[in-house]
Amino acid sequence: MFGRFFKKKTAQIAELVTDITQETKSESESDVCSICFDVWTSTGSHRVCSLKCGHLFGNSCVKTWLANSPRCPECNDHALLDDIRIIRAKTISAVDNSNETILRRELEEKTKKLEELEEIDKRRRIQTNFIFVAFYSIYTLCYWLTVAFLIFWAAAIVHKGLDDGTHFVFEELKKARLEALEKLRELVSQR
Ligand SMILES: [Zn+2]
Ligand SMILES: [Zn+2]
Repeated sequence: MFGRFFKKKTAQIAELVTDITQETKSESESDVCSICFDVWTSTGSHRVCSLKCGHLFGNSCVKTWLANSPRCPECNDHALLDDIRIIRAKTISAVDNSNETILRRELEEKTKKLEELEEIDKRRRIQTNFIFVAFYSIYTLCYWLTVAFLIFWAAAIVHKGLDDGTHFVFEELKKARLEALEKLRELVSQR
């Protein structure tokens, strides 16, 4: 009776132990020697050590490996027995930030692109503003010239009547045009 009870208990305990071992293994898959796929230790023959390339292995495994082939089993870099360095740490864990690095690089690229686009946009806005100011100036000049002409014409009509006034205004315009042309010619000949 006791025999059966103990057998059952032992089986249960064994099951529990396997569960725990499996859990620890899956939790720390990166803490595994890639030669024997067993966890490395902080002391003893399978203590964790590294090669020149930075890859980690159990000491006994990597020694055996290098005796047969002078290359890192992970990255194939040239490696010698002398390159083996004991890692003096009780536990090794590293936060996997490879995704973070990729995201950060993407963010940097996007920020750079955004800055470039903003610069282009700024230049375009300055151009648009310049064109607008130029057109607006021409428009304002034409507007005030027309207003001045109309006031001049109205004043001439009031002083000399419709026909004489109009005749006077257009004669003045003709004179002004000829004078302007004369001045322009002078300027051109001076150069
Ligand atoms: Zn190993
Ligand atoms: Zn390596």
